[in-house]
This record gives sequence, C-alpha cells and structure tokens, in this order.
Amino acid sequence: MGSNLGDKLAYCRHAVACLAQLDGTHVTAVSKIYRTAPVDYQDQNWFVNLALAIETVLAPDALLAALKRIQRSAGQGEKSIRFGPRRLDLDILLYGRQIIQTPLLTVPHPRMHRRRFVLKPLCDIDPGLVHPVRGESVRALLNRLDPCEQQIEEIKEDVRTTGFCMP
Ligand code: ADP
Ligand code: MG
Repeated sequence: MGSNLGDKLAYCRHAVACLAQLDGTHVTAVSKIYRTAPVDYQDQNWFVNLALAIETVLAPDALLAALKRIQRSAGQGEKSIRFGPRRLDLDILLYGRQIIQTPLLTVPHPRMHRRRFVLKPLCDIDPGLVHPVRGESVRALLNRLDPCEQQIEEIKEDVRTTGFCMP
C-alpha cells in the first residue's frame, strides 16, 4: 500500500484495519514502514509504503474490488495523473504463485520487480518469495536495483491499531 497525500500514516493505518476486518481474510504479516521518494512521476510528495501478507477466501477479482472499496473509504477517487498523488493506493503484488492477466488485473503486479518501495517491504515479510514470472526471489530482484536510485528509509512507526490481532 502507499499514500502521499494528507496524513499518509493515518490512511495506511485505516487500510490495515480495514484489511484485518475483511470477511474471510486474515493479515498474517506486516512489513516495516517506509518513507520513499516518488519514482515514476517525480513532481510530487514522498510516499509512505508498506506491504501486508494476507490469507483470504476472496478470489483475485473479489479481492481487487475490496481493495478499491477501501481506497474509496479513504476518500480516494479515480486519479487524473497516472502514478500521481493519492491518499491511498492498494495493489495486489502477488497472489500465491498465480499468474493472472485480465483487463482489470495483472498479477504479479507488472512493475513490482523494479520498484524498491515494493521489494524492500516484501523482503521484510519473506525475502525468499519467488516472482512466478521472473523465477527470482524478491531478495534477488531487490539486489539488482541500482543502489543510487529510489531513495527509501524506514520510519519507526506502527500501523497496527488497537484491536488488531496478529496470529
Ligand atoms: P497504480 O497502482 O499502477 O498506480 P491505479 O491504482 O490507478 O494504478 O490502478 C489502476 C487500475 O489498475 C485499477 O483500477 C486496477 O483495475 C488495475 N490493476 C491491474 N493490476 C492490478 C494489481 N495487481 N493491483 C491493483 N490494481 C491493478
Ligand atoms: Mg493501484
């Protein structure tokens, strides 16, 4: 997830709480939280980014619909600038080892392998996670990135709100 407008951390906390309460869904891991420089469209504020692992009964399209509902509940409408500012952006990075290509959904996320703000939090969760198209672990993909590009730093915060219960 990511946010770069308003109270970024609060939007992320809201999203984590919503995901934890989603029917048929458990949050099984939460990454560290990062402050990251914008990548594709650079004339905008820095982002807060983190990743979650969930177990869910929701099929990929139903999960995407749920993520869009959570985005809207944070006041995030459809964006006008691609990769531009947003209160809350929730993406499906991986869905097990499935490869999905529909008009609404591409999994693995088509840009995840070259984004430090995705790979770094995924490594917190499990560095051995394998990208099913590239056949490489998220650790290996992270190590390939140019160390001079895509600034990222950990923020010492907790997004788990009260009532949140890790297994
Ligand atoms: P991005 O996250 O790439 O900045 P958006 O959040 O604006 O872009 O998403 C635009 C559309 O991308 C969504 O409406 C959704 O249908 C589609 N999409 C395709 N693959 C994915 C994915 N893996 N996760 C989330 N959205 C996806
Ligand atoms: Mg998105």
